[in-house]
Amino acid sequence: MTTDHTAAATALLQDLIRNACVNDGRPESGEEIRSADLLTGYLEGAGLDIERYEPQPGRRSVLAKIEGSDPNAPSLLLMGHTDVVPVNVDGWSRDPFSGELVDGMVWGRGAVDMLNLTASMAVAFRQLADSGFKPKGTISYLAVADEEARGVWGADWLIDHELDDVKADYVITESGGFQVATANGTRLPVMVEEKGTFWSKLTVRGTPGHASSPYKTDNALITAAEVVRRLAEFQPPPELSGTWRRLVEGLGLPDELLEEEGFSETIDRMPLGFGRIAHSCTHTTFAPTVVHGGTKTNVIPDQVQIEVDIRTLPGQSGEHAQKLLHEAVGADLLEKVDIESGDDPSSRSEIDTPLWDALGRVTSRLCEGSALVPWLMTGATDNRFFRRAGSVGYGFGLFSERLKFEDYMTMFHGNDERVDQESLGLSTDPWLAIAEEFVGPHSG
Ligand SMILES: [Zn+2]
Repeated sequence: MTTDHTAAATALLQDLIRNACVNDGRPESGEEIRSADLLTGYLEGAGLDIERYEPQPGRRSVLAKIEGSDPNAPSLLLMGHTDVVPVNVDGWSRDPFSGELVDGMVWGRGAVDMLNLTASMAVAFRQLADSGFKPKGTISYLAVADEEARGVWGADWLIDHELDDVKADYVITESGGFQVATANGTRLPVMVEEKGTFWSKLTVRGTPGHASSPYKTDNALITAAEVVRRLAEFQPPPELSGTWRRLVEGLGLPDELLEEEGFSETIDRMPLGFGRIAHSCTHTTFAPTVVHGGTKTNVIPDQVQIEVDIRTLPGQSGEHAQKLLHEAVGADLLEKVDIESGDDPSSRSEIDTPLWDALGRVTSRLCEGSALVPWLMTGATDNRFFRRAGSVGYGFGLFSERLKFEDYMTMFHGNDERVDQESLGLSTDPWLAIAEEFVGPHSG
């Protein structure tokens, strides 16, 4: 790690945070054009040509390429998103959009999701361009808009409309690379698989009436409350095979985490951040998040809408998720509920690939004695669009020992999001080493 990289990544991250490209799901939110232009200015300084894509005003993504000399050599895309999720300012100890640097930590929304990597990838890419890097395989840098609302104006759109430009054999984006200390040495999780979404809108029906005489009325809000209660209580059995098993074994975690019997009690005893990961990696989860309903204080409501964030496990079909949702709501209430769902299934990449091997070699040098372990991500990333288009997609970014796995999970979309500067410097190095070894003049 050089202090130059640390300083450059810190400054870039602070500017990205200050741009506050908050994506609340509306087409006109995000305004990633500000960070797209910031990154364009930064990369153009190295003489790179930048492609711009703006399918919706303000939702700009940018692509920079260093063309390879051998069209048969594997191509690699480093991808970061520029948007962030909204904040609740009351929960923060500092201004979430000031990008303050305090005791070696950069504070702000996006500090770990994932403006840190968007910045460190740009710093590495500029360094490659400045040094006149001549790879065999093409290496690209893509800063995308709209990752936080399903990539409609970002990765999903680019894959649909600009596939020739953005397609790569291998893609690296968020997330992973926390140093986990185990009896066998440091282990670095790499995201190879991500859960699917089955976001559902439940419309609960009732019968309108005068609220001054509520006796035995068919109140949609009261039915909705029961639906929410059932969803919160619903607990399908854990799924303890596949990537979860490889992660538990790779990290040397307790065997109880692979046993259905007593699984809940086991995760109950563990730190909350870890318990959350363990629970969501092994279950289809149901989180009621939005409710709308009622018209007036004196009117019995005849309609209430509940939005539920359902996350499906790898290999689970939409039909399976629907079956679980019906089971959770219960046959007696289903007749009062209309359900609309959107299925965005899970995705995964294999680990017997040349990139996995190269990443393992590079990181074991940077972080002595470390080894990679495959990890299942509970949220969705833009990797899914690229995997579906045939790329191998991993989530990775090297972090220092100061930032723990469970801290990361609590800060992700949470309060007081921040990252240490050492991580920013450290996360720049793998990109440079991978460029050299995997697509570069020294690739095998
Ligand atoms: Zn993210």
